[in-house]
Amino acid sequence: MDKDLKNNTIEELEQIVDSFGGKKYLAKYIFSFIHAQDIVEIDGLTTLKKELRQKLADEGYFISKLDLVEKFVDPDGTVKYLFEMADGVRVESVLMTSKDRKTVCISCQAGCRMGCDFCATAKLRFRRNLTAAEIVDQVNMIAKDAGTVNNVVYMGMGEPLDNYDETMRSLRIINHHAGKNIGQRHLTISTCGIPEAIDRFADEKLQVHLSISLHSADQNKREKLMSVANRHGLDEIKAAVKRYQQRTNRRVMFACCMIAGFNDSDHDARGIIKLLTGINANVNLIEFNEHPGCELAASSNDRVARFMDLLMQAGIETTVRYKKGSKIKGACGQLGAAWLEKEIGK
Ligand code: SF4
Repeated sequence: MDKDLKNNTIEELEQIVDSFGGKKYLAKYIFSFIHAQDIVEIDGLTTLKKELRQKLADEGYFISKLDLVEKFVDPDGTVKYLFEMADGVRVESVLMTSKDRKTVCISCQAGCRMGCDFCATAKLRFRRNLTAAEIVDQVNMIAKDAGTVNNVVYMGMGEPLDNYDETMRSLRIINHHAGKNIGQRHLTISTCGIPEAIDRFADEKLQVHLSISLHSADQNKREKLMSVANRHGLDEIKAAVKRYQQRTNRRVMFACCMIAGFNDSDHDARGIIKLLTGINANVNLIEFNEHPGCELAASSNDRVARFMDLLMQAGIETTVRYKKGSKIKGACGQLGAAWLEKEIGK
């Protein structure tokens, strides 16, 4: 059990309460006070008797909290939040609003070990994994600031399946009806493709969406773009996705960051069509976003449209994710770019 009460599931809180001689049902109140009412002091858990609160505090239990350092608002309405954790490490999260839906893109690591060429986060020094509490608190803090959050995507800084246990714990906390109560079908995990972790994820019995960062169906190109691709070949990833679908019967999304002259030709599109044969898949084409120290350029709108047409003609449902938040460096692949400018002096 973690001394940070925010980092515990209801079942774990029950064990903590039980160990203090309290009734197990109190765990649900503690959870709700922390995740639905944003209480951050043990003394604020007024549903517990003062004596129990004192015991918890005496034993070193606490409720962690992120500090909001800065908030950046893009003219397109996207908001980027810079949070600081108790040890001074910082992460960013993004809020995107469309019509009546609020989607939050959260980070699960400070930095990232996957080495994607098109991503600013990869160029920052890897600091550490986030705890589940620190992952969940990004949603809690943004909901407090902006109102009810409808969707959460794990597409911010870091690779969720490289911080597997804390990511799974955070999903269960965010989803719980006593807390933020965000439905599993409104949660998405994005991974660069770690086969053994996809196998584990298939056994979690979660209805959470899985998105694979594909970028190219050509193994050599993928290796040039993402150093992690040297460790896991496309055949291995495809086999893991097939096993995942056999066990879960769930569709998988494949994301492609569209880079001019690199992965956006008709030939590239046909490669993806071939790779996805036999897989229940949809494709999300993402507009590439520039950041300091990166020479890559975005594909033209015409190229993206043509690419999309080819995939659609082959029966693959395809969408395009347009730039959001690029002026505040809050778009895909840009998280951490503001610090990167300082680190490399641009
Ligand atoms: S794109 Fe994702 S997995 Fe790749 S370096 Fe960036 S944060 Fe890591």
